[in-house]
Amino acid sequence: MEAPHIYVEQTLAIVKPDCIHKAEEIEDIILRSGFAVLKKRRVHLTPEQASDFYAEHYGKLFFPSLVAYMSSGPVVALVISRDRAISYWRELIGPTNTYKARQTHPDCLRSLYGTDDQRNALHGSDGFSSSQREIRFFFPDSIVEPIAVGQAAKD
Ligand code: ADP
Ligand code: MG
Repeated sequence: MEAPHIYVEQTLAIVKPDCIHKAEEIEDIILRSGFAVLKKRRVHLTPEQASDFYAEHYGKLFFPSLVAYMSSGPVVALVISRDRAISYWRELIGPTNTYKARQTHPDCLRSLYGTDDQRNALHGSDGFSSSQREIRFFFPDSIVEPIAVGQAAKD
């Protein structure tokens, strides 16, 4: 019987400006949740950089305040890795809206650390292609292919 393959994925986590004072606590939670932290960078985004990062939301009513929020102070961007990293990190942070998260997922990280309906403490890539784009946004030299760990690796 062939051994199951585990795909070690990478995803981008961001500790947003409203949660920056808890960055070490968040990193500790990340590590205790079975992730490795591959890269980490503290950066204060300009409004132009924040606009580029959230380009998919350009034109939406909340876009200007999102850009102001994300450029209001430093963030910590982390490349984190484990099996199912992308979906697992999204599950841990929970729903986008902090108040809704508190109602439906009271133990999720946005429920615990978010500030209001926009300032939700944490970011996570929402799929494989966005994880590639977002990791390269903060860490331009990254190689972000998933690594298969299984039978072949043992031979
Ligand atoms: P997520 O961060 O969960 O992937 P989105 O990609 O939809 O959510 O939105 C990006 C960020 O924009 C959110 O994390 C939140 O900070 C902000 N945001 C999203 N929707 C709204 C909204 N309706 N009103 C205010 N801010 C919003
Ligand atoms: Mg998103």
